[in-house]
Amino acid sequence: MQRRMMFLVFFAAALAVLTSATFAKGQAATTTAPAQTGGAATTTTNQPFDPVAATNAYLATVPPDKKAKSDAYFEGGYWFLLWDFLAPAIVFLLLLSTGWSARMRDLAERITRFKPVHTFVYWAQFLVLTSLVTFPLGVYEGYIREHKYGLATQTFGPWLGDQLKGLAVGVVLGGVLMVALYGIVRRLPRTWWIWGAITSLIFTAFFALIGPVFIAPLFNKYTRLEDPAIRDPILSMARANGISAQDVFVQDASRQSTRISAFVTGFLGTERIVLNDNLLKRCSVAEIESVMGHEMGHYVMHHAYKGLMFFSIIIVLGFAYLRRASEWAFRCWGEKWRVHGVGDLAALPLFALLILTYLFVLTPAINNYSRVEEYEADIFGLNAARQPDAEAEVDLKLADYRKLDPSPLEEYLFYDHPSGRARIYAAMRWKAEHLGERGEGDKIPGPGSRQTGR
Ligand SMILES: [Zn+2]
Repeated sequence: MQRRMMFLVFFAAALAVLTSATFAKGQAATTTAPAQTGGAATTTTNQPFDPVAATNAYLATVPPDKKAKSDAYFEGGYWFLLWDFLAPAIVFLLLLSTGWSARMRDLAERITRFKPVHTFVYWAQFLVLTSLVTFPLGVYEGYIREHKYGLATQTFGPWLGDQLKGLAVGVVLGGVLMVALYGIVRRLPRTWWIWGAITSLIFTAFFALIGPVFIAPLFNKYTRLEDPAIRDPILSMARANGISAQDVFVQDASRQSTRISAFVTGFLGTERIVLNDNLLKRCSVAEIESVMGHEMGHYVMHHAYKGLMFFSIIIVLGFAYLRRASEWAFRCWGEKWRVHGVGDLAALPLFALLILTYLFVLTPAINNYSRVEEYEADIFGLNAARQPDAEAEVDLKLADYRKLDPSPLEEYLFYDHPSGRARIYAAMRWKAEHLGERGEGDKIPGPGSRQTGR
């Protein structure tokens, strides 16, 4: 589903995206990542294995043109954070100030006398209209630009099909949430913000849990991985870490893109290990093990549930802010917009605007939270898979779409996963501390003798 549309499905969707373990791979180490020291570090140390020099050696294997392309792609993404905020914000303001929102409400109320149906009809109009107006931006960001950087594999027809499916999911699930929230607001005009926060939280938890099981298959096919050479080491690592999965599934992600990814999801006996076909095609068995060790880290450390805790704070604070800010906005512009207060459907663009602004301002905090969990999962993965050089190779492959070596401020503000430099350094540090252990470290080749894909 498109990110901009996610914003519209209120906190629920934002939470689902950010807590979902599908957004995998990473670590958090702006504080632990070494500053760039250049090649000199290689010669000025007496240590048998210098992690900083090894990190620099890995980074130096990336050709300059490839690095420039990846930097340009990722830095361009900083601007899309802004455009993806401004474009819908302008649409919401226009809907309010031109009276369109009031007209959409009047239309919804003419169709039937049932209030829940009013809410659903208004929501459908609102989401479809907003998606239509911001569609050109979506085409550029999600289709043209992805093709320009060689990250997309879909032709326009299937891409559009996925967007329409995403819109349908947004209309139905967002509609259910809206009906519930407006029901609460109308019945509890004083305490709506508390009950609204609780309802949003329950909805979000539900969405995060059913998403991988019921929504993901709308976009991709999942098949059992049959090759024992890859499946058996993954299942063995899963058992060793207390994950009771029987099968490994493959997602046909190459239908949409060239990105490598994987996730571990499920609970109460529905545990499921999923890796995508790009990972299978582009990585060695050691690299796949390294990625899966990271994903298992998310699962074993209950990151989905901890993320839910984190977002429950954001949601409760968000509703308290919504109450204050909306009261102020109604006093200033309510009459002009023909919007009669919090229970009025026509006020929905105002709430969408307030939420969009709130999440935009919180982006660095949310990124930091995510990056810390990703760092933890990386450390877990290194200990579980014991493949530091394979980890470094995967980190270089992730540079297809993530800048490898950002400034500390950039990493702090914009990275929801640690940078390539931070991740490779963590791997090399692990390697340095395990040298000679059961032949672990010293048998592992350095960047000079890289493993090629299977
Ligand atoms: Zn991760």
